[in-house]
Amino acid sequence: MNVLVINAGSSSLKYQFLNALSGDVLARGNAERIGLKDSLIKHSLNGAPAIKIPVDMPNHKVAVQAVLSALTSEKHGVIKDMDEIDAVGHRVVHGGEKFASSVLITPEVKRAIRSCFELAPLHNPPNMTGIEACEEAMPGVPQVAVFDTAFHQTMPSKAYIYALPYELYEKHGIRRYGFHGTSHAYVSQRAAALLEKPYDKLKIISCHLGNGSSIAAIRYGRCVDTSMGFTPLAGICMGTRCGDIDPAIVTFLMEKEKLDPHGVDNLMNKDSGVFGISGVSSDFRDLYTAAGEGNKRASLALDLFKYQCRKYIGAYAAAMGGVDAVVFTAGIGENTVDIRQGACEGLDYMGIQLDPYKNTAVKSREAVVSTDESPVKVLVIPTNEELAIARETAQICGAQM
Ligand code: ADP
Repeated sequence: MNVLVINAGSSSLKYQFLNALSGDVLARGNAERIGLKDSLIKHSLNGAPAIKIPVDMPNHKVAVQAVLSALTSEKHGVIKDMDEIDAVGHRVVHGGEKFASSVLITPEVKRAIRSCFELAPLHNPPNMTGIEACEEAMPGVPQVAVFDTAFHQTMPSKAYIYALPYELYEKHGIRRYGFHGTSHAYVSQRAAALLEKPYDKLKIISCHLGNGSSIAAIRYGRCVDTSMGFTPLAGICMGTRCGDIDPAIVTFLMEKEKLDPHGVDNLMNKDSGVFGISGVSSDFRDLYTAAGEGNKRASLALDLFKYQCRKYIGAYAAAMGGVDAVVFTAGIGENTVDIRQGACEGLDYMGIQLDPYKNTAVKSREAVVSTDESPVKVLVIPTNEELAIARETAQICGAQM
């Protein structure tokens, strides 16, 4: 079954066209600068370097049509006809409490996604624009919504409720939702497969460490806690996001720095994290270069990040009454030997024994990096959210997996 996976942002539309059963990626790309001057599609076939196709895309509908033209074009296409697209899978960031799994998109589902706009004002509206553009361009092709929040809906209320007046949860839906769910589900399932153990018998801590980072506790195949919260600002510190801070700092800063709600939101989302501490960059490669040159604040940012990962691993082992596997994924988790080492440092007493040689040898590939004797296995698993979305989509559409 060939699935077109769409991740629509406010001015971009990322796509991957893949066979959901084999996982083969036939084409991928990004329609960039939608609604702006000089819009273009970066399109790549079967892993070849991307070609740039300049095309005027005043809106997402035209962008979807342009993507379909690229996929069916004689020159850079992979299919002869649009009929060869069996289904479309959409990444939707927020499903609120309404969606605990992926769903076939119907008018009612669209209404429910719209009702979550308030919870994800930067993400859900463009996601919906992508859905409607695809519906118009491909009438009759099944469209499926796959939510970043759905995997975390199994959290018990004690893990998702905040200690605010309960009425605010009822009135505004203020609670922990968690994000990166598709990635946490994918890598934890892959970990079980690699370890050749039943998924529903394992306690797994999944560390998705990228520009945005989150950690999840997955007990017997169900998420029981996760570090991101009501928004993706919570949890461990990130590239430019502060993660957990004392909430009183918000009002203090508003007063002292004369910031309005938008200003303080910007500060916490865009000027903070490892970038804010180091003053150098949000990219860990730059931080390592700077730290190597003696930049103390870059070293501090890296130390803080490792320390926070370690604290969450300890906390989630406690939350689950033990842990069988710790998984590292996403740009930092897959590539950065020192972060994995720092996150596991001193946890031998919990049975987490990283093998320094195996750890050093692994970048961006699936591998076990703990010692053979380690009671808790440590794994690196490159995430593949597009494949996970394609598989969910195929399953919802009734394909035999
Ligand atoms: P996103 O959340 O945008 O999907 P990624 O998962 O791609 O982010 O992670 C991006 C981050 O991963 C970069 O900011 C960088 O810090 C880190 N990263 C990517 N590749 C490497 C690498 N080879 N070595 C060290 N860090 C890397």
